[in-house]
Amino acid sequence: MARQKLCRECGVPKLIYKGLTWQNTGIICETKDPEHRMFFAESENLEALFAEIENLIGTSIDKFVIESKSRLTKEYLQKMIPAYVLKLLYLVKPTLIVERMAAIAKAYGYGKVEFVDMKMNTKEGDYLSMTIEHPYSIRFYRGDNLGGMEAGTGRECTTSVKEIGEDRYLLEMWVGTHPPELKEHLNPPVYPLITGNVELEKCPSCGVPLAVAAYRFDMDSGIISHPETGTRMAFYGPAGLDSVFLALEQELGLSIAETIIEAQKRYWKRNPMAESWAVGEKNLKQMLAMRGYGIVTRFESDRDHFSITIQNATVLYLMVGMAKGLFETVMKVDSSIHEWSVSGDGTLSITIRSA
Ligand SMILES: [Zn+2]
Repeated sequence: MARQKLCRECGVPKLIYKGLTWQNTGIICETKDPEHRMFFAESENLEALFAEIENLIGTSIDKFVIESKSRLTKEYLQKMIPAYVLKLLYLVKPTLIVERMAAIAKAYGYGKVEFVDMKMNTKEGDYLSMTIEHPYSIRFYRGDNLGGMEAGTGRECTTSVKEIGEDRYLLEMWVGTHPPELKEHLNPPVYPLITGNVELEKCPSCGVPLAVAAYRFDMDSGIISHPETGTRMAFYGPAGLDSVFLALEQELGLSIAETIIEAQKRYWKRNPMAESWAVGEKNLKQMLAMRGYGIVTRFESDRDHFSITIQNATVLYLMVGMAKGLFETVMKVDSSIHEWSVSGDGTLSITIRSA
């Protein structure tokens, strides 16, 4: 596979600096599709978060995560690429699709993807398999690929995953209907957007924020990590997470807000970076905007409370959990009281107080 081009100045891969735009609204979006938001965010807590939810509700949430993600990916591809092009690509040069997916996985921090096998027009139908090492989230990765294969073939597909080594997986996909996993067709979340004025210092050559470029982009392993702490990052969309939360609430009739807030809080209290976030409003504003989490428009903090307003916020439960984790880390306490509300224009207000 051809090596990916990197920015000569800062070393960020071309798929990132061409494909994504950091706006002054505090969000990251696909350059070709500004409605499609992305995060540059910690990824190690994804599977841990899913496991924590499973613990609480006592059942696997595989189908919610994989199906929600697959539907989003499929709809996104169908919106961006005409159906006949998708079909033609799949029929004429299917390996090109796998190569492209592997390249995206490396640039986005999803892990190392390698093509294994492809069979077309067999008695059992079309078949595609690949391996992935150190996936950012095996369930999100599986959902993404299922959606990709369904968009390419124009048909329903099925996937399975086997762990075949240390954090190494075989992902197999077949054309063929899978049982309807989710009853309702859930529309992807629509996020309102307000103008903003956040300034991030950017690479003069490619326009990626320097704070993002400071991470190590390992193009062999597909791992993006902090040069000092090793904390792993990936580019993924808030809609994938919000759709999972929505599906869980709608299908199971559960309120999972508190579970997610607690799981996210625990992650942030373990994060070695947490301390460095707590150095004032300007720093926090940068930390949020470089991740595409929105703009900090209000910030108050004293010995007893921490209060913040974020414009253009998404994944609200996760943001509340993060605020709670940061507060408890700085205050060196084990519990706190949280209150939050969101307005119709996507402005999130959070207050954390000592318990
Ligand atoms: Zn650059």
